[in-house]
Amino acid sequence: MKKRTLVILFSAIVIIAAALLYHAWAAAPIAEPLPRQAPPRPLAQLAEPGVHEARFWQPMDDGRVRCYLCMHDCVIAEGRRGICRVRENREGRLYTLVYGLLAATTVAPIEKDGMGMALPGTDVLAIATAGCNFRCKQCHNWHITQRYPEDVRAREFTPQEVVDYALRRGARTITGTINEPTVFFEFLYDVAVLARPQGLRMQFHTNAAIAEEPLRALLKRTDQVVVDLKGFCPDIYRRYYGGCLERVLRTLKIIREEGRWLEITNLVIPTVNDCMDEIRAMSEWILAYLGPDVPLHFTRFHPAYRLTHLPATPIETLEEAHAIAREAGINFVTIGNVPGHKYNSTFCPQCGEKIIHRVHFSVLRKNITDGRCDFCRHPIPGIWEDGDWVPQLRLRPPDPVSEAIKFGVINSG
Ligand code: SF4
Repeated sequence: MKKRTLVILFSAIVIIAAALLYHAWAAAPIAEPLPRQAPPRPLAQLAEPGVHEARFWQPMDDGRVRCYLCMHDCVIAEGRRGICRVRENREGRLYTLVYGLLAATTVAPIEKDGMGMALPGTDVLAIATAGCNFRCKQCHNWHITQRYPEDVRAREFTPQEVVDYALRRGARTITGTINEPTVFFEFLYDVAVLARPQGLRMQFHTNAAIAEEPLRALLKRTDQVVVDLKGFCPDIYRRYYGGCLERVLRTLKIIREEGRWLEITNLVIPTVNDCMDEIRAMSEWILAYLGPDVPLHFTRFHPAYRLTHLPATPIETLEEAHAIAREAGINFVTIGNVPGHKYNSTFCPQCGEKIIHRVHFSVLRKNITDGRCDFCRHPIPGIWEDGDWVPQLRLRPPDPVSEAIKFGVINSG
C-alpha cells in the first residue's frame, strides 16, 4: 500500500512538472530569426576600384542596412556583405564593390545568350562581374559567380568605355549575363542610359530574383530579357539553386506587363527537373500567363560544379520536353546545347516550315520578311530589324481601366 502511494505521488509530480514546462515553453516569445549574413571579410583587403554607392537599400537604427535589390532582402551588419558577396555595409551605407569591375567582356552571337528571335544572327557584347545571388549546383561559371570580387580577375571600365567597345566590335546589343546581372545593377543601368541613345539595344539574362522596384526601373532602359526558368518545383528551386520559384514567376509576369521582349531558357537536368509532368505544368503556366509567343528553349545539361556525378541530359528527354511544350500550345520551342539538332532551328507555327535555320549558335538562314513567314505570310513575332517589331501576343487581354489610366485616358489622381 505504501509503495503504491509513492508511485501515485511520483506520477503526479511528473505530470505537474511536464505541464508547467509546456506552459513556460508555449508562453515564451518566439525569437526573431537571425538575418542571413555572408561571412565577414577584412575591409583592408578591398580593392577600391569598383566601389560605388549602391541603390535600393535602407539604413537601420543600429548601423545595419537592408538591401532590397533582390528576393533575399539582406540585412547587413557594418563591415559585412550580402549573400551575393558584392554588396557591403561601410559605416552604415551600402556599397557595390563591382561597379565597372568586369570579369568578362565577350562579343558573341546573341543566340549564345539564349535569345533566339531578337535580331537573330547579330552579335552581343556580354558583360559580367563577380558574385551572384543564387547558389546553382550546376553553375558553369562558378569561378566568377561563387567568388568574392577580390578573388576574381577583372578590369575596370566606365559605362562609356563599354558602349565604345560594343560599337567598335560591331555588336548590336549589350547584355548583362554570365553571372546574375542584378548584382551589378548600378553599372548595367548606367551602361543602358548611354547605350540606347547611341543605337545599341540592351538586354539582360537573369535568374529573375530581382525585386519589383529595381526590375521596373531597369526594364525602362531595357529592350529584351532572357529568363532562366530553372524548373517548376518550389522545393527543387530552393535546394538546387537557392532561389524562389514564386518570385521568378512574378518577375516573368512583370516583364510581359512592361511589354519587353521576353524569352525563356530551361536547363533540363537529369533527376533534378526532368519530370515531364513538371515540364507540362511549366508550359501550361507560360501559355496562360505569358502567352504562346514567348520562345522557350530547352537546353542540355553537361556535368559541372557540384553536379558532376549526374549524366548529360539524354537527347530523347529534350525531345520529349519539346513535344510537350508544343502540345501545350507554345509556338516557338527549341533545343539548345545539342549542335546540329533539328530543333536548334525555329519553325513557323502556321505552316511548319523552317523560318530561322540555326546550327548551335550560328544562324544560317532567316526566312522571315517584314515580320512574316516567307512561306505562308503568317506574322512572326520578334525583333527582326530596328523599328520592325512584331509584338508577342498577349493571351489575357489587359484590364481596360488600368490600361486607360496608364495611357492617360482616365485621370488616376
Ligand atoms: S543584391 Fe540580393 S543578395 Fe545581394 S545584398 Fe542585395 S538583397 Fe542581398
